Amino acid sequence: MTIRSVSAIPVSLPFDIYGPKPMLAGRPRMMEFLLVRVETEDGRVGWGEAFGFAVWPATKAVIETLVDPAVRGKDEAAIAQIHDELSRKYHLLGRTGPVMYALSGLDIALWDLAGKAAGKPLCELLGGRRRDSVAAYASLMKYTDPDVVARNSAKAAGEGYGMIKLHETGVEQIRRAREAIGPGVKLTVDVNCPWTAEQAIAICEQTRELDLYWLEEPVWPPEDYRQMARVRKEGRVAVAAGENASTYLDFQAMFEAGAVDFAQPSVTKIGGITELLRVADLARRHGVAFAPHSPYMGPGLIATIQVLAACGEEIPLEFCFCDVTDNPVAAAISVRGARLAVPAGPGLGCDPDLRLVDKYRVH
Ligand SMILES: [Mg+2]
Repeated sequence: MTIRSVSAIPVSLPFDIYGPKPMLAGRPRMMEFLLVRVETEDGRVGWGEAFGFAVWPATKAVIETLVDPAVRGKDEAAIAQIHDELSRKYHLLGRTGPVMYALSGLDIALWDLAGKAAGKPLCELLGGRRRDSVAAYASLMKYTDPDVVARNSAKAAGEGYGMIKLHETGVEQIRRAREAIGPGVKLTVDVNCPWTAEQAIAICEQTRELDLYWLEEPVWPPEDYRQMARVRKEGRVAVAAGENASTYLDFQAMFEAGAVDFAQPSVTKIGGITELLRVADLARRHGVAFAPHSPYMGPGLIATIQVLAACGEEIPLEFCFCDVTDNPVAAAISVRGARLAVPAGPGLGCDPDLRLVDKYRVH
């Protein structure tokens, strides 16, 4: 069997974040993702997701001009080999960004095909289905308005989430969230790389009594692991990072610098499931917790669920706290009591509803 074609389909879905939408590239953010479709000569189809947001046109171009012609005629079961070959071939174009996002989407689609060929859900190929559902934490959007932060934190806690993540940089917003959820719910804060180490350490002092379970990406630039390690040590806070890392070697540098307690590789960015598993193994050997980044609503989320379903220890899934009506893969996203069911069908366990893909496709 061989690969016949690889294509990319951008979709933009309406979604409700229970507050004003954040702006990105000058317009309100939509839930955008780039579906990657791999078809084999015998007509089987695998689905993946490449990091979307505002960069999807570049990633789509990479898939169409570099990935598709390079993999046509290759054996779709040779996943690691294809990943290695294309990583080497295109390394001069960057080891992260649209090239690696495209390879990530391809890798997920090939794993989907592998599961379908075996007639098993992906988790069974990755070590076994150790649970039927995974615990999730509520990853709230950035609202800025302290009242909206408090209201949505209380809403998430009320829905049973035992851990809530904010995307806020203000101490007032963090305080309001803690007051809204009480002491029994874990609270983490993702600030997306704004500060110097000194500024971050000062914030750690100001939020000490708010009992942060982790502080995520505290310093600019994100790859300054020495400064990140300073925040961890002098700020006396657990640090999480990794969504902006490129390849497992970046994680190795992060771990060797003593920069993090939680490693957060992102399946649609880091190189797909293949690279995610390498990071998971590396984290285990360094005694760092594995906590993938997955604020997705497409195959990237489902791939992360399948990986977590196969992990020995139970690791909470990052789950976007929002409502996406008409999601083409809604059938695989079943939330009950702050847990997401592990899809039981072969591969990822869910093909996108093509009627909805057509409806929300970006032309
Ligand atoms: Mg983050």
